[in-house]
Amino acid sequence: MLGFKPSFIKQGNESKYRINLTMNTNGVFHIESTIKIKNTSADAWNELVFYFIPNMSTKKNAPQLEYPSTINFKKVEINEKNVSFKLDKDTLKLPLSSNIQPKKETVVHFSYDFTLPEKGLRLTKSGNNYFLAQFYPMLATYRNHKWNKEKYQLRGESYHTGFSDFKITYDIPKEFTITSTSQNDEYPSENRGSFEINNVKEVFISILKNPKFVLKKENNVSIRVFGMENDIELYKEISDVALDALNFFQQNIGPYPFKQLDIVLGEMGMEYPGIITAGSIYNSQQVSSEALKNMVVHEIAHQWFYAIISNDSFNDAWLDEGFANFAESLYYFSSTKEKVPYNLIKRPSKELVVNLPIDKYRNNQSSYIYGESMNMLWKLFEKRGGINKAKEFLKTYYQLYKFKELNTQEFVRFTKAYFNLKDNSDFEGWLKLN
Ligand SMILES: [Zn+2]
Repeated sequence: MLGFKPSFIKQGNESKYRINLTMNTNGVFHIESTIKIKNTSADAWNELVFYFIPNMSTKKNAPQLEYPSTINFKKVEINEKNVSFKLDKDTLKLPLSSNIQPKKETVVHFSYDFTLPEKGLRLTKSGNNYFLAQFYPMLATYRNHKWNKEKYQLRGESYHTGFSDFKITYDIPKEFTITSTSQNDEYPSENRGSFEINNVKEVFISILKNPKFVLKKENNVSIRVFGMENDIELYKEISDVALDALNFFQQNIGPYPFKQLDIVLGEMGMEYPGIITAGSIYNSQQVSSEALKNMVVHEIAHQWFYAIISNDSFNDAWLDEGFANFAESLYYFSSTKEKVPYNLIKRPSKELVVNLPIDKYRNNQSSYIYGESMNMLWKLFEKRGGINKAKEFLKTYYQLYKFKELNTQEFVRFTKAYFNLKDNSDFEGWLKLN
């Protein structure tokens, strides 16, 4: 590794969000969001591009939903002047009357009301609980002289945002409690409050009514489990597994940056900075308690591979899914003493590689992005030091890429330097290199 210099993908902008969220007793949310955006690219911009994912569950875009979301924009401003906007699927574009030059800042303000769909994807109302995933306009990254905004996909995460700073103020009805990306949430929470969190890719909030609650505190991190059923024993077991996995990842990869990790059960498995949800895969039925524990470990691993080490989850999904699976299995092999089944891992002879954009797979993306990529990561260590080397590899990877973004090419460059590889033969058949 001597002399190796990592190279990072730039996000092309810096943004600071101030979001004011109000919820009334009918479940209508009102948002005032002000974003200070700095152009850190080399180009002048003639438009701003945001993801606005709540629009994907409206009656128009999700006719299959019995209870779709509703959205009502009141005002969009740039530097305090009213502007027009275009909202098409999850793409929200603001054309600019005068360009934003490199290094210049601008302030955008959105004011809108919305309701959550039922049986929505991540952003959803479920029973008496509200899950606010991607509920605000999220600025896209800017690279290769354009906004990096891809088409919305139902499978996988088709949005990619840069690290940003957030200040959130909320006001919710009395009977609810809030839990979020913040590391300072209390249980039960106040009905009015605010929090700040810096250098995160997004903010997730859930607003819960009388959840079951388990707290586990050790060293400097609290694990908080929120469950919707009457199964406190299971919730305790989950908090034990979660803490064990968190400690393992901290020891073997690098520090977890927050003093709190929240786990909200009963929902589709998904990672957000500082908080995860687990319970089902794509809203199918709830998984068994064993599978639930594995899912929790997987989503916790994403705190390192997604929330700390960033990648474009549309174009390079394997870098967070494959690595989260790899870390999950590293935890498993390390705690059970079971051997890594290297001889079962065959070089792929399949038609597809693991690093295609998610819209290039049919319904088989998981077996490549999650499965094959994990297997081939293991294969790298078969004759190169096994489990112990894998831990050392992840530690170095974390040190070099924490709070930065990388892509497949950079992973290859790092891995070649790390193992002192002379050619690309270790990547042939499973990674597309160009
Ligand atoms: Zn995952």
